[in-house]
Amino acid sequence: ELAVTFNRMLERIQQGFDQQQRFVSDASHELRTPVTVIRGYADMLSRWGRHDEETLQEGLEAIGSEAENMQELIEKLLFLARADQKRQILHKELLDMQALVGDVFRKMQMAVGSHHLQLLANEPAMVLADKVTMRQMLRIFLENAVKYTPAGGVIRLSSSRCPENAGCLELMIEDTGIGIAEEEQEKIFQRFYRVDSSRTKEAGQPGGTGLGLSIAKWIADRHGIKIRVESQPGAGTRFTLKIPLQVVRL
Ligand code: ADP
Repeated sequence: ELAVTFNRMLERIQQGFDQQQRFVSDASHELRTPVTVIRGYADMLSRWGRHDEETLQEGLEAIGSEAENMQELIEKLLFLARADQKRQILHKELLDMQALVGDVFRKMQMAVGSHHLQLLANEPAMVLADKVTMRQMLRIFLENAVKYTPAGGVIRLSSSRCPENAGCLELMIEDTGIGIAEEEQEKIFQRFYRVDSSRTKEAGQPGGTGLGLSIAKWIADRHGIKIRVESQPGAGTRFTLKIPLQVVRL
């Protein structure tokens, strides 16, 4: 009995160790690409930058944008590292979801010119949650919706009571984008997982990090939020988040 428990424990530790090793090796691999690009442009600039104004401009812009990508990647890696070490702190408070949803929506709407963003419903609701990460989670879903929907597409956000249960808020993020095949739908929450990049490239999108949804999932889990994915390749995707509402007894 004891030996079985002990073996299981060892197995779990080994698994955690393997996962950690894979995380480090995947992360290093992802960081190598931007560094290589930056070095390439730096090299080009040192050879030709002085003689050619256009080359100079192009090179500087490419270095700037690649450095920005790298910074985003590093922020995400640090978030997950903190999460793994249980150092990612959540300050849960009674949070006005209507205000938060409205705010994130307006900011996204200003940032995105090429898509139609609609806020279908935004019901008043208080939840016990950490403001910073809740905002981050919502942004991840919205940014993905924009990223994987060709220009001109529609992205709808709505926040309303769950039809089956009044003690729950249902947040939906729907898009008319490229969609996710059935067999991919559970994998997209894994770290570094991206659906076949050739298809996403076709939608005119640069490859992401594959980390956004794993971060969103972590945040959701910490808040007791359930995530459902429904998607049709070529038609669009709907993420439904079921957020437990705070029961306030007076
Ligand atoms: P990424 O940085 O690649 O966007 P994510 O972890 O946020 O990483 O998402 C993982 C993968 O899930 C994406 O690479 C994409 O293939 C797929 N995906 C996520 N959201 C959508 C969406 N709204 N429509 C279509 N595909 C999506």
